[in-house]
Formats: sequence, structure tokens, C-alpha cells
Amino acid sequence: MSPFTHLVGSWLVASVTTHNPRDRKLVTWAGVVPDADGLGAVVDVIGSWMTGKECMFYYYQTYHHLLLHGWPAALVVSLLLSGFARERFRVLFWCLIVFHLHLACDLLGSRGPDTTDLWPICYSEPLLRHPIWFWKGQWRLDGWQNRLVFLGLFSTAIWLTLKRGYSFVEVISQRADAVFVLVLRGWRDRLQKR
Ligand SMILES: [Zn+2]
Repeated sequence: MSPFTHLVGSWLVASVTTHNPRDRKLVTWAGVVPDADGLGAVVDVIGSWMTGKECMFYYYQTYHHLLLHGWPAALVVSLLLSGFARERFRVLFWCLIVFHLHLACDLLGSRGPDTTDLWPICYSEPLLRHPIWFWKGQWRLDGWQNRLVFLGLFSTAIWLTLKRGYSFVEVISQRADAVFVLVLRGWRDRLQKR
């Protein structure tokens, strides 16, 4: 699934399992960080632009879904993030859960345009080659199933934002979050007056 779907989903889990903004952000990040191994695409594009050669997405193909999509990264990332937490054991536990939720969601819906273009989860990479898991019924990354999941998560997140007064934007910036909440509540109030 897309990094934004992972962000919204992880934030929802974090919102109902942690007790303060800092821990909430840490748990949310644990569900997004796996896709950082796809940043090789940026290096690929810049490299091709500078050399004038055709972009073959070498770094993206080599590292995406391999470097940060297995149990070794789950352990390292969760331990690292929980080191900054107020409630360390709680955050460690939920970081591990949302990290694995990310892997499960990718297993469900990360297929390319072709039906054979399945994207596996190499659960012990980058330490060991096996096990390799894939699901033959995997949804397209841009398929309707993923859009439906996103819509469900996004509308739940908006509902929770209106109720609690903070949103997933807090993960990026507290100030931007305050503006976002203000705008949302303004829209809601205007709708209710009609
Ligand atoms: Zn992923």
C-alpha cells in the first residue's frame, strides 16, 4: 500500500494505544519507516538526470522491500524508536505491531499492473534470503481494494481528529496540525449550521 495509507493507518493504531503525543508519533513512524528503503528511487532519478543515462531504478529495485521489510528492521527500528518514548515497553510493543501491519498490508496490496507482478515479503532480509512470502491474489497497488481501505482509514482518521483535536499531520508538524484541525472544525461547524 502507499506510504500515506500506512501513515494514516499507523496513526489510528497509535491514537488508541498510546497515552501522549510523543509516543503517538513514535508508533506512527514505525508504520511508515519501512518504505524509506524505497528512497533509492530518488538517488536513481537524480543519478540518471546528472549522467544523462536512462533511469533503470537500480537502487530502488535492489533495496525496496528488502532492506526495511523484514524482522531485522522491525526489531532495530522498534528498539530505536522506543528509546525516545515515555512508556518504552508499550511503545516497543506497538511499534512492532504497526511495523508488521505494514508488512501485512504490503503483502495484501502491492502488486504491479501485471497479474504476475507480485511483490513478496522477504521476512529475514537483509540477513537471510528465506523465508519469502507472497500471495497470489495480491491487489494492485493502485487497485480499488487499496482505495477502499484508504477511504475507510482516512474517514475514520478525520472523525477521530474532529473528536480529539489532533490529526495525523502532527507527525510532520505540530503547527500545521493545529491549522489543519482548525480548518476541519470550521468546515464541520459550517455544515452543521445549514
Ligand atoms: Zn512497504
